[in-house]
Amino acid sequence: MARRNFVHATRTRRGANSTVHGRQAVHAVPTDTRGPGTAATGAPFDRELEDRLLRYVRIDTQSYEKGTTSPSTQEQLDLLRLLEEEAVSIGAHDVRLTEYGALLATIPATVEGDAPCIALLAHVDTAPAYSGTGVKPIVHRRYSGGDIVLPDDPHVVLSPDALPYLAAKRGDDIVTASGTTLLGADDKAGVAIIMTVARHLLGNPQLPHGKIRIAFTPDEEIGRGVHGSLPRDLGADLAYTLDGADLGEVVYETFSADKADVHVEGVSIHPGQAKGKLVNALHLAAKIVATLPHITLTPETTDGREGFIHLYQMSGTASAANLHFIVRDFELDALERHGELIRQVCAAVQATEPRARITCTTAPQYRNMRYWLETDVRPVALAREACTQLGITPICVPIRGGTDGSRLTEMGIPTPNLFTGMQNIHGPQEWISVQDMARAAEVCVKLAELWCREPVAAGPAEGFEARLTATAPALVDWSG
Ligand SMILES: [Zn+2]
Repeated sequence: MARRNFVHATRTRRGANSTVHGRQAVHAVPTDTRGPGTAATGAPFDRELEDRLLRYVRIDTQSYEKGTTSPSTQEQLDLLRLLEEEAVSIGAHDVRLTEYGALLATIPATVEGDAPCIALLAHVDTAPAYSGTGVKPIVHRRYSGGDIVLPDDPHVVLSPDALPYLAAKRGDDIVTASGTTLLGADDKAGVAIIMTVARHLLGNPQLPHGKIRIAFTPDEEIGRGVHGSLPRDLGADLAYTLDGADLGEVVYETFSADKADVHVEGVSIHPGQAKGKLVNALHLAAKIVATLPHITLTPETTDGREGFIHLYQMSGTASAANLHFIVRDFELDALERHGELIRQVCAAVQATEPRARITCTTAPQYRNMRYWLETDVRPVALAREACTQLGITPICVPIRGGTDGSRLTEMGIPTPNLFTGMQNIHGPQEWISVQDMARAAEVCVKLAELWCREPVAAGPAEGFEARLTATAPALVDWSG
């Protein structure tokens, strides 16, 4: 069955493209002086994570939707090259910056045998939605529980009254920006976590794990994080993105996404001679917008498991107009219905004005990773088990968006998304708890250990169903 197949199906991709960069590292990276572990899985990661996060967020890596290169902005390469140096300096193998701007590296297996190869991914870019230039990270050491006022714009206040998650983090070390930029914990927290885990595992070869691949990708925020060559270059049996939010989050359900582009061709003529001749494309475009649902089925009127049709851009003149929609739902049949609704509205408006030409083109963007993960639940079940063993309550919530994991899963590498702690992303109120990041690093170390005990040829492993039942009462666990 599919469960048996997934490891076999992806195994042949392993080992492609490995290049060791022999460059000397120029950046000081903490060496492992902490010994083989103090806590359940390892080490006090807090300081290293904080150092790394602060170092990475200072580099402006905003992606740019109209950029035609990969990465879309050269600045992302500044961080990728720094990470390349750091990966070499901690002793990672096969360090390679691909031509499309993904940094790949290997942590060799410490156990004999043929454990599945897992990959850990994070994206280096920050959202185009808000400035990431000149980020000045601030550590609010042992947060005391009051309002956090950001110095460069005192209007930006993080109040525990408005942010219950922040209220629960009293005593943690909270990192924010200074008020005029985003922080970029999305997803430099993920980058810092993976680098810290890599350093920890490479420095502690007594910790059991199979081969681990790490990948830092560009342009996730503009939907181009998964280059067509990435699955082959990664060569992993399964992967995790470190790009989630609250402590304990294990996300394996994302939207399924289509886009719809509507073009309205009117009839253009000098307005002074237009009577009976002009067909105003803007009026027809407005009619389409007005006919589509407003108080249902829009992002601002839906949540939870409801889908939507979102008009995000319109432009044009009296002679021609364009409407751009994104269409989202968790289920494919509903997604199809939303697309059909746009087509029907276009057809109805077209029928009112035969002289116009209205076309509607829909195209798939990404698909809910659940469709694939349901065929082999181990990537989810083991992530939940890692959390549970560390005393963290796993939370599975569907996310109303996509991740690089959505594409990767579709392309053959099952890739759930794990928490990092990031909060209020894509704006000046973005913040993160260093201690949440540390827990995420511990989960990764534990996961690596759990996977090395898993059979490669999955099959319905002995006891696996029972363990799944014990750790994940329902595969789809909306209640968290
Ligand atoms: Zn992200």
